[in-house]
Amino acid sequence: MNNDCIFCKIANGEIPSKTIYEDADFRVILDLGPATKGHALILPKEHYANLFELPEDTAAAAMKVAKKLSAQMVENLGADGLNLVQNNGEVAGQTVKHFHLHLIPRYKDDGQNILWNPGKMSDEELEEIRKTIVGE
Ligand code: AMP
Ligand code: ZN
Repeated sequence: MNNDCIFCKIANGEIPSKTIYEDADFRVILDLGPATKGHALILPKEHYANLFELPEDTAAAAMKVAKKLSAQMVENLGADGLNLVQNNGEVAGQTVKHFHLHLIPRYKDDGQNILWNPGKMSDEELEEIRKTIVGE
């Protein structure tokens, strides 16, 4: 636990939160500034700054929690869909440096736009990028 980290304190119950799920490794809370009704955050109880620091087994366990809660939220809130969002680094929109996975229920005409502007790339450029990523 990191004493300077607000999500460590929330995840470990030192600061109260609207908890919708808890187990030995995770707490899932309602976001205080929700994008939509039911916007929730999956917080590991251990401190990891981001996805790069997260152990593989914790990543897998987080996705299991996401899978279970997504269905429950969509069903009980009457949502029409759901976005999973996870930001790493300021450039990617991360504001709290404790790994968290956003569960954002979506409703028809909810006014949110959690998408990107599609770009354009040639086949050659895509091939160069593919090689860079795989290290060829
Ligand atoms: P990110 O931009 O991915 O780092 O997301 C941080 C999220 O945490 C934002 O959606 C905030 O509204 C939310 N947030 C920040 N502080 C709190 C808090 N004390 N309790 C609940 N949610 C919070
Ligand atoms: Zn933390």
